[in-house]
Amino acid sequence: MHGEEQKWVDEAIRTNWVSTVGANINAIEEQIAEYVGCKYAVALSAGTAALHLATKLAGEKLYGQAKPNAGTLQSHKVFCSDVTFDASINPVAYEDGEAVFIDTEYDTWNMCPEALGKAFEMYPDVKLVIVAHLYGTPGKMQQIKEICDKHGALIVEDAAESLGAKYKLNGKWVETGTLGNFNAISFNGNKIITGSSGGMFLTNSKEDAEKVRKWSTQSREAAPWYQHEEIGYNYRMSNIVAGIVRGQLPYLDEHIAQKKAIYERYAKGLADLPVKMNPWDRENSQPNFWLSCLIIDKEAMAPQVRGEQNYLYKHESGKSSPQEILEAMAAINAEGRPIWKPMHMQPIYRTNAFITKEGNGRGKSNAYIAGTGIDVGADIFQRGLCLPSDNKMTAEQQDKIIEGIHKCFL
Ligand SMILES: *Cc1c(COP(=O)(O)O)cnc(C)c1O
Repeated sequence: MHGEEQKWVDEAIRTNWVSTVGANINAIEEQIAEYVGCKYAVALSAGTAALHLATKLAGEKLYGQAKPNAGTLQSHKVFCSDVTFDASINPVAYEDGEAVFIDTEYDTWNMCPEALGKAFEMYPDVKLVIVAHLYGTPGKMQQIKEICDKHGALIVEDAAESLGAKYKLNGKWVETGTLGNFNAISFNGNKIITGSSGGMFLTNSKEDAEKVRKWSTQSREAAPWYQHEEIGYNYRMSNIVAGIVRGQLPYLDEHIAQKKAIYERYAKGLADLPVKMNPWDRENSQPNFWLSCLIIDKEAMAPQVRGEQNYLYKHESGKSSPQEILEAMAAINAEGRPIWKPMHMQPIYRTNAFITKEGNGRGKSNAYIAGTGIDVGADIFQRGLCLPSDNKMTAEQQDKIIEGIHKCFL
């Protein structure tokens, strides 16, 4: 927090605009649209709400309006990022579709275009792809968009983690959050800027913006009474939350610079170890460096196995494992995280199809065999971890973490 957040929250209370309408909402919708370079931004209660309405709208455009008690995806398959937070892809289930997970690539840790191409060979009727930019690093959107265009498929872009990250599309720099047909960002408490909660739907289509705004405010029709022709949601952002976002927005670029400095300090401090930082395309992207991560070289991985809720690891000289490093950090009161566990390994999605660049990632039995490292997502989950990345972290605190990681490899 910087202080200006308080000013706009106080203003909302002083003027009695304590509701889902008010000056803060109007201001941030305008300011975000200008920052990312889109025509319309619709402020919602969460990034998840933005992703839900984006996915619902995509379904309605592709398959027509659903019956009041059914989702718009109507059992159709949707290709989805696999290493992401489940909020990216749960809306497929909310709308009665079926997620098909696409494996990850090693260059940016995002959706693998080759695997996506393979998926279209296997399921040529699919018309929707949900793509996330993991940890603030843009994925290979040029290739992904070309594949989608070739198959007439639409894109829902999940830019929840990547607000302020830039990507070179057709030789022109653009912001993430403008790369899909339907786009979502988040102001959750852990994101690059926050409103405590909140999110936005971003679009260049006036009609889409109006539709999402209507759905988010209970789908009221223009009648003197509560008149409803379609199912509605209570998904609009509060003017109090919008006040916090309004106070944070002037600091977005500063937060990105701080996060980048943290990333670079780790990269330098860990350069002598058998690890790499989370990679990005230095020619065609500029991440927001939301989370710094590392991945241990294959040869330097000590044994580590994970069950559903617990794990075991063994130390070996000159080697380490993510769980060993996370414990060492916890011992000095520093919070790291495992890599987001891939969706195809999650109990709720374990029977969904999963496509690698070789084809069916489940094999003939459609079973995932934990720890075999047969796919890229599982491999990054096995060898990678998220480092403490808070922009308030001091250089001294970061040096302690770097020192602690070195001890793990003794
Ligand atoms: C945080 C996050 C979301 C959800 O945003 P909320 O505002 O928390 O609902 C969706 N997708 C990704 C990739 C996220 O990191």
